[in-house]
Amino acid sequence: MKCETFVDIAVPRPLFQTFTYSVPDSMKDQLTPGSRVMVPFGRQHLIGMAVRVHQEPHPGGVKPVRELLDREPLLSSRLLELGLWLASYYLAPLGEALKIMLPPGLLARKVDRDGPSGRFWPEKRRLAVVAVAVSPPEVKLTTRQREVLERLTQLPLPVWVQPFLRQMKCSQSILKTLASRQLIEMKAVETYRSPWSQSDSSPEVKKHPLTRDQQRIFTKIQKHLASAEYRSMLIHGVTGSGKTEIYLNAIAEALGRGRTALVLVPEIGLTPQISRYFRAWFGEQVAILHSALSEGERFDQWRKIRRGEARVVVGTRSAVFAPLQNLGIIVVDEEHDGSYKQEDLPRYNARDVARKRGQLEGALVILGSATPQLETFYQAVQGGELEYERLGSRILERPLPTVHVVDMREEFQKHGKAVVISDLLVTGIAKRLNRKEQVLILLNRRGYASSLLCRSCGHTESCEHCSISLTYHRDSNRLVCHYCGYLRSVPKRCGVCRKEYIFFLGHGTEKVQQLLGELFPSARIGRLDRDTVQRKGSFQRILGAFACGETDILIGTQMIAKGHDFPRVTLVGVLTAEQALKMADFRAAERTFQLLTQVAGRAGRGERPGEVVIQTYYPNHYSLRHARSQDYRLFFEEEIRFRRNFQYPPFTALANCVLQGEQSQPTRHKAEQLADLLLHYRNRLSSGRRMRILGPAQAPLERLKGQYRFQILIKATSRKELHEVLKSVMDDLRQKKSSLKNASIDIDPLNLL
Ligand code: ADP
Ligand code: ZN
Repeated sequence: MKCETFVDIAVPRPLFQTFTYSVPDSMKDQLTPGSRVMVPFGRQHLIGMAVRVHQEPHPGGVKPVRELLDREPLLSSRLLELGLWLASYYLAPLGEALKIMLPPGLLARKVDRDGPSGRFWPEKRRLAVVAVAVSPPEVKLTTRQREVLERLTQLPLPVWVQPFLRQMKCSQSILKTLASRQLIEMKAVETYRSPWSQSDSSPEVKKHPLTRDQQRIFTKIQKHLASAEYRSMLIHGVTGSGKTEIYLNAIAEALGRGRTALVLVPEIGLTPQISRYFRAWFGEQVAILHSALSEGERFDQWRKIRRGEARVVVGTRSAVFAPLQNLGIIVVDEEHDGSYKQEDLPRYNARDVARKRGQLEGALVILGSATPQLETFYQAVQGGELEYERLGSRILERPLPTVHVVDMREEFQKHGKAVVISDLLVTGIAKRLNRKEQVLILLNRRGYASSLLCRSCGHTESCEHCSISLTYHRDSNRLVCHYCGYLRSVPKRCGVCRKEYIFFLGHGTEKVQQLLGELFPSARIGRLDRDTVQRKGSFQRILGAFACGETDILIGTQMIAKGHDFPRVTLVGVLTAEQALKMADFRAAERTFQLLTQVAGRAGRGERPGEVVIQTYYPNHYSLRHARSQDYRLFFEEEIRFRRNFQYPPFTALANCVLQGEQSQPTRHKAEQLADLLLHYRNRLSSGRRMRILGPAQAPLERLKGQYRFQILIKATSRKELHEVLKSVMDDLRQKKSSLKNASIDIDPLNLL
């Protein structure tokens, strides 16, 4: 009997199972897991990913694969394995998990019924001169034609036609003539779209001899790289302690051993600075991957990596899936950063995926931070697989900045009214401006006023779709919802009592920019927040102007807190430091401490020592007290007690289930059904009592984008049991084809709003 071959396919649909197809004889030798295929699916065709090839007989008739799209698999067996893990750990549909591992568009949802019209390989081709006759035969040419031919013989091939014509100021007909006489050959050649701007072309960065502390850690790294096994290490180094220099040396070491390197950075904003370092060290071997690249650029970078032409990848969250072969080292810089967590399906955390990938590839994983996430630090000092390394002082013994905390309640009494910028900060700024030094001002709220209050009836203007007040933006003269983008004009009268006592409450970055402009009319003031960076390139422009001293003061949201190295900044001011503490989130204290420590770390990175002024109404809160001394350890001791008492991570694994709906009551009812189901499966566990199921309760943001939201929080002492229960519940729902299956489940949530 002939042995039939089958293949299990994952399709890019929110479906949890794979689908089995038969493999036609013509494809048997080529079809391997990790390749894309086109398959009939219902009444249409879909591009799916082959996950498993096998000979297990399949009940019922199966359809054959229609077309094999890749001669070589797109995903290596290790990446495919990572995808399977991703789907199972984060409870995400496999097709969706595999889709985000590839550049956009490669696993398309739909294909025309007549066949593939989509771009399977959206590569770019450009017309180029690819050959030039060495000794031109005796043909008659005009002077101009001869000139052009002459020039072509001098240039390295291929010569791109368009830029060449521009340079020579001639038309394409000359080239056509030369081609028709067989003096040159032209054809379309594949090119890479480069994400580097022209000015980036030859960066120069000094390499430093390592300090003793850096050398100690680097020696350990060398040892690990020599062993070529999975290892993980946390480098806990205060801001400015020279972590980047260690990464660079470590990567050079890995490359020297014939392996490749992956570097994750939190945000696109950090990429220009950091990627310049990497370019200076590793030149053309560096690829960058982040979501601000065009699809074409991303695709080209991805291909360059896959072909082994780029051996160092620097990128944001999804770069963790970069198709590097023979991966030797993964660096996750600022590992505590919230941008590593994807808030849509699949809700993965790139830092944790990086560690899993390190395991699968036998690579060294380095996590770096000045303020590690509490769970990471806890693991590292517990003495498990995560090694702990400390860099306790700044490079060249530069002191950490002095931190002052200004009690804004006292400031209020002194002035008899609320002030935005304290006396201490005003004096401090004046001093810096006189000395031609620079100032950073952090205020984590954009816009002009944070809400509009009617002083007659107390009504605040809030979003029609979200339970949140609207922010007044003066630049655009609009009220804006910061969650859904809803816009409306500024009312003259209160929407409820119709009186004209509308009052702007609170202050955002726009307002502070205006105030500082009034206080320091000659100062050049820049602003960096989501409103000012909307246009492409403006982020770099604003930061660039500050870096080269064209602006004296830079005001911004948390965007300014991260990673930047501005040696002339000697003063950092923080307004309303307690803002994050008001959030109903168990990580509020940790976030506050991190933000303050990070932004303080921007001061005094050059030769002059730095100073930080933190303004707050809660000076005695422990996150502020420890941020003042910049003592992570003391903060940790206090925070970990709170986590233990209330059974939060790292003492439990968390999952957050959110149900959304257009109407409040039916949504609540569904949430209750889901909670019952969770309880049912939990109670079947022998040790079920160690898993707590809390809720359903209204989510802190009870309405978002027009949807009512209820959440159920699960705290489990055993991660394995947590997964067991959630999987059982999901299977149950799927079998019943329940409408609850749209509940979103977030494993290891960072954001509980
Ligand atoms: P971190 O990443 O820990 O905040 P960086 O790696 O940015 O710190 O280093 C801070 C500054 O010190 C940078 O300007 C860097 O060029 C410089 N630096 C790093 N290592 C050395 C060294 N061994 N000798 C001299 N300068 C160094
Ligand atoms: Zn809204």
